[in-house]
Amino acid sequence: MNKSNSIFDLAVQGVQQLIPYAPGKPIGELERELGVQEIVKLASNENPLGTGSKVLSAIQNALADLARYPDGNGYALKQVLSRKSGVSSNQITLGNGSNEILELVARTFLTPELEVIFSQHAFAVYPLVTQAVGATARVVPALNYGHDLNAMLAMVNENTRLVFIANPNNPTGTLLTSAALASFLDSLPETVICVLDEAYFEFVKEQDRAHSVCWLAKHPNLIVTRTFSKAYGLAGLRVGYSLSSIEIADLLNRVRQPFNNNMLALVAAEAALSDKDFLAATINTNNQGMQQLTDTFLELGLQWIPSAGNFVSVDLKQPAMPIYEALLSKGVIVRPIANYEMPEFLRISIGTEKENLFFINALREILTNV
Ligand SMILES: *Cc1c(COP(=O)(O)O)cnc(C)c1O
Repeated sequence: MNKSNSIFDLAVQGVQQLIPYAPGKPIGELERELGVQEIVKLASNENPLGTGSKVLSAIQNALADLARYPDGNGYALKQVLSRKSGVSSNQITLGNGSNEILELVARTFLTPELEVIFSQHAFAVYPLVTQAVGATARVVPALNYGHDLNAMLAMVNENTRLVFIANPNNPTGTLLTSAALASFLDSLPETVICVLDEAYFEFVKEQDRAHSVCWLAKHPNLIVTRTFSKAYGLAGLRVGYSLSSIEIADLLNRVRQPFNNNMLALVAAEAALSDKDFLAATINTNNQGMQQLTDTFLELGLQWIPSAGNFVSVDLKQPAMPIYEALLSKGVIVRPIANYEMPEFLRISIGTEKENLFFINALREILTNV
């Protein structure tokens, strides 16, 4: 036995083959590398307005209780989510980010004998949680960078246990219509769990949103996931949740860690839901920033994938890595998405007007100098 590999060989096979999730480059890291302070990070779909004042004061008020365990059932936050969504509290599962929900679903429903369906270019965490439990991923070729729902249905067989659909999808920003999703769910066997990942729900124009929560009554196999990381500006605190049938919520609750949401995250999420002005300002900033970036792409002769989220992927028609590196050297962090089979694209998170301009100026310089 090769001694240096011995521990590695002890790991379950799915884990041996895993490629770890690659997050956006942290600001502090680039600051150290470049020795400069002016860095703009448009790489992780974070809220460029930061954190709302209501959230900050809720956190202040909770600091006195840090020695206590948090409420393991998240009673207060679930009450507010229940009122807001119209589903009962026992249909809600809170997660340490919605990523944790994705993992709980995989651990609850998958075995190495079972298969999971998701689209090419879909969110990187789907293959990760699938492989970690040793299940088989069936990746369906994308249709115009979005999900091909008919092809996904055609992939269903007796071993299929789970389907992941991100709507809008990350990193492409593509959006499915409510009608297309409704008919997909009607055709999907009830023995297949469907995760509808709505991490960017709040950014979707109201008339374009899927009626996903209404479908829960009809589809006990549906899990809708949402997050506080994007529109609500709480990425650093890690809070997400799912809405599902009571049966699924009960199962997920058995698997999760008893105190998976920390106390500050719980009070912050509750406060974030009460701050309508902050949410409105966030959406407004996003709409204007999206226009600012796409106007620039048009002017530079670049194509992009129309996005319903708080980011946009632009087609450079050349390897994106050198452009990514050149942007880094100018203090701009964006996201290369070669790991999503899109090596000629960069994904740009929408920032404030000033941040967008900083990126635009850097990009313009780079593209006119090559
Ligand atoms: C960002 C994102 C999430 C979740 O992030 P959390 O911070 O874990 O809530 C989930 N799905 C998609 C598609 C995302 O882009």
